[in-house]
Amino acid sequence: MNRENVLNGLSCAGCAACCVAPDISTLNKPAGVPCQHLNEDLRCGIYEDRPEVCRNYRMDESCLEIQADSLQERVAQYGILFDLQP
Ligand code: SF4
Repeated sequence: MNRENVLNGLSCAGCAACCVAPDISTLNKPAGVPCQHLNEDLRCGIYEDRPEVCRNYRMDESCLEIQADSLQERVAQYGILFDLQP
């Protein structure tokens, strides 16, 4: 399966790993800490007003590679995949 076929078949599952694992300087959010705008249901609380960095984020193969049952596991997988320091 080529890259385009993979990406065309993807839709965001709302796993929220990208709202926890990376540091996001615009939001003053350190790596591994949930964004202050992330709701308990793992949805963005400011979706319509989210910053550009979040608007520009696009799914890719990494979303498939970090799949796991819990948010904690997905964040850990994300950290391993992108070699983030805890
Ligand atoms: S602003 Fe919303 S989309 Fe951006 S990291 Fe926070 S919760 Fe996620």
